[in-house]
Parts: sequence; structure tokens; C-alpha cells
Amino acid sequence: MTAESVTTPQPSPAAQAPPTVRASLSPSRAADFKTCPLLYRFRSIDRLPERTTIEQARGTLVHAVLERLFDLPATGRTPEAAGDLVAPQWDRLVTEQPELAGIFDGAEPAGPVEFLRSAAGLLQGYFAVEDPTRLEPAERESLISAVVDEELLIRGYLDRLDVAPDGALRVVDYKTGGAPREAFEARALFQLKFYALVLWRTRGVVPRVLRLLYLRDAEVLDYTPDADELVRFERTVVALWRAIEQATARQDFRPRPSRLCDWCSHQALCPSFGGTPPPFPVAAASADPLRDSRSTPVAPGADE
Ligand code: SF4
Repeated sequence: MTAESVTTPQPSPAAQAPPTVRASLSPSRAADFKTCPLLYRFRSIDRLPERTTIEQARGTLVHAVLERLFDLPATGRTPEAAGDLVAPQWDRLVTEQPELAGIFDGAEPAGPVEFLRSAAGLLQGYFAVEDPTRLEPAERESLISAVVDEELLIRGYLDRLDVAPDGALRVVDYKTGGAPREAFEARALFQLKFYALVLWRTRGVVPRVLRLLYLRDAEVLDYTPDADELVRFERTVVALWRAIEQATARQDFRPRPSRLCDWCSHQALCPSFGGTPPPFPVAAASADPLRDSRSTPVAPGADE
């Protein structure tokens, strides 16, 4: 990666007096509110359970394998080695999160075998677009955070961060989902800009590249942000948070139907689908101002 780093003219908040953090926001929860305020409420305030789908579990597994792949010596990062990691990583995930074993309930008897086979297939897509023997990531599944507007903590897990010898940053996000890309691409770019903003505010460097790796299609989407864009994006994030605060104070989270409703777990409670939301959980909404999701921040590998 050769790139010209763009430095911010402003000091990093880390160098300033400790701010009074009043709230936190992850890219997934911010994107929820942007997509549909009622979806944000269901997930972040009501904290309604959502059953893990086979597709989400496959995404978590593939992320885990790609993270561990870089533990191997560079010459050992082969497709075969990645394939060999699939079953052990799935066993580890199920041990740590026993509920994952339930994703095969009601599935065909060959479900688990097919599941592992399809995860291996996604990894082949990875090797079609990158050669991991030529990469040494600076960070993997890393939690990053920054404070903006003096009181809002923004944070999330990035899949991978590459740092070039000249200091240029490349943020990489693996996408494993089978949903139509156009339905989720804006959300994915929002997430990457969120990470870019955090990195800019904490390191004083605008990432040179934001990269989406679509493993199913074996395609790469690169995006190059600039400082002016991140200034505007920061305003957008702060405005989103203020809108969330207003909606919470008014207990007013309205549904915003879109094609993303097809992937929503809460249609039965949504007025747009004839449902009725539960009473607003006032205590939960005011109990923890740093809450922003059911499992704050969103777990690494959660591929939406
Ligand atoms: S079904 Fe659609 S409109 Fe209703 S809460 Fe879910 S995303 Fe929002």
C-alpha cells in the first residue's frame, strides 16, 4: 500500500483534557437509527432478543478464521490452512456461545456439514481478492474509540487495520452476507467512515483507504475519504445522537419502512406490519446513558 497520509490540522482529543463522556454510540446502532428509529429502539432500548441466523453465524465464523489466519507465519497462510481452521474455530465459537448450536434447529440433517462447507467457500472468495502472505495487519478485531463533540464516545470493532511503511492507514471490513449488496452498501460505508473518524480523531491521520471485501462475490470496493468529508461526517454522527436523545425524551421512535425490513427480526411488533410495540421501557431508556446496544459495543464479526 503506498499512500499519502492526510494529517488533521486539529489536535487529537487524546491530547486534550479528559472530556466528560455522557453517551456512547457504535456504528451499527447509529446506522440502525438512521435506517429506522423504531429498529434502534427495539435493539438498543427494549433490547429485544434476536435469534442468530445461519448467515450471521457463518459471518462470525469466517471473521474468526480470517483473524486466526494471520497468527500463522506468512508463508503458511494458504487456502488449505484457512480451510483447516474452519471446524476448530466453529467448535471454539460454540463453546464460548452455546446458543450458536441452536442455529441448526429445524434444518436438514446435513445442515452443519453444509454450514462448514459454505464457510470454507467464502474463504475461497477471500483468497481470490487478497494474498495474505503479503500482508502483516497492524490490528485485527480491534476495539477503537474516540470522543467527539466533547461528550459522545464513538466506538466499534474494526475487522482489520493495515499500516503502510509511510504511515498510511487502510481499514478493511469483510462482508460475508448474501443479502443484495445495494441494500447494505450505504450502511457498510457508513460503518467504515465511522471507523475513519475514530482513527482520525485518535491518530491524527485520515485513512487512505476504506476497503470492503465482499467474500461471496470475491469483489473489492475501495473508498478514499478526505478530512473535509470526515468533518461533515462527524457533524452527522453528532446530529444523529442528538436526534436519538430527542426521540428518547419524547418516547417517539417511528418506523421507517424500507427494503431492509426484509431482514428485520421485529416485524411482528412493528406498526408498519400491523404490530404493536411493547410499552416504552422508561427505566431502561434512562438507566444507562452509555448504552448503545444489547452487547455494547457490537461484537466483532457481526456482519450486517
Ligand atoms: S420492520 Fe422495518 S419499519 Fe418495522 S421496525 Fe423493522 S426495520 Fe423498522
